[in-house]
Amino acid sequence: LAVAGCVAQAEGDSILKRSPHIDIILGPQTIHKLPELVARAHRNFSTQIEANFPVESKFDFLIPRIEGKFSAFLTIQEGCDKFCTFCVVPYTRGAEYSRPASKILNEAEIYAKSGVKEITLLGQNVNAYHGESPSDNKSWSLANLAYAIAKIDGIERIRYTTSHPRDVTKDLINAHKNIPELMPHIHLPVQSGSDRILKLMNRGYTSKDYLTIIDKLRNAKPDIALSSDFIVGYPSETKEDFNKTIKLIEEIQYAQSFSFKYSSRPGTPSSYNKNSVSDDVKSERLQELQSLLRKQQNEFNKKFVGESLKVLITEKRNKNEQITGRSPYLQSVNLKSSDKHIGKIMEVKINKVMNNSLAGHLS
Ligand code: SF4
Repeated sequence: LAVAGCVAQAEGDSILKRSPHIDIILGPQTIHKLPELVARAHRNFSTQIEANFPVESKFDFLIPRIEGKFSAFLTIQEGCDKFCTFCVVPYTRGAEYSRPASKILNEAEIYAKSGVKEITLLGQNVNAYHGESPSDNKSWSLANLAYAIAKIDGIERIRYTTSHPRDVTKDLINAHKNIPELMPHIHLPVQSGSDRILKLMNRGYTSKDYLTIIDKLRNAKPDIALSSDFIVGYPSETKEDFNKTIKLIEEIQYAQSFSFKYSSRPGTPSSYNKNSVSDDVKSERLQELQSLLRKQQNEFNKKFVGESLKVLITEKRNKNEQITGRSPYLQSVNLKSSDKHIGKIMEVKINKVMNNSLAGHLS
């Protein structure tokens, strides 16, 4: 605590005041906040002694990530201030930082001139983006960025990842309605369907909040595809908690998802929670959850059989003169055709669904 120059005093669940002194009162309700308090205090302290640190310069050395020549990743934001109790990012990557919009637009233009058609905006908490505006003292949101990038000649597709439910704003939802270049897919990790576990995870929303966000997104963009992350077996998770996650999945119907057994990360608040779930139970729950998610993914993909999808052809596959690309909903689509189509958006008629991809032919 002394090293961190801890500055918080806490009682109950709320931080009451900050002072330059080490003065902490933690009860059973707040002890899990200790790593967060220390990290926040350390950040405040570090900011005071390193006020001129050129934060943006760390991005100057990033090698542009261009996947093929037609799809690129563009980092717009780093770090996180959310302090989910299972996650190391706020400690290892530091405070949330958004790059100035002008630099991002400049890079997007360079990508467009080099033939890139699809840009994926990246950030640990991408929709918390609040970068400096190119024209005034106000900050830009992720939606502002999407509107501006959509106007760049040559950019036909925009994606972003990873989002946090707490930062899905009205302007972002409207952006999905208004920007044809913004692809109809959002990765929105929920982690659990149990409000008790969500609270322990410090996620800052309830399952009802999450369902309300999904409703709003679907009202704005009815065909939007959803994907999520799930953690099973978080310390103290009961069968009842787990069943609430299953119920939420059944209610939402995901197009794709990622799920993991909880695994303790040293130093995180949840690593001090000794109420662990046995590995056998975690495995059993993961299997049940993944089988439901696989079924939903398959049902989502099957809807496209016989339909045409606009596919950005990104590369040649090694075998049988196949080419491959991505649908608007982030599905991999394989087809047999000439590699002269690479880099173009083609209409592909889907005739087959595999576990993780679709197959078709040019319409
Ligand atoms: Fe931040 Fe995501 Fe980690 Fe939570 S899980 S602390 S939102 S990076």
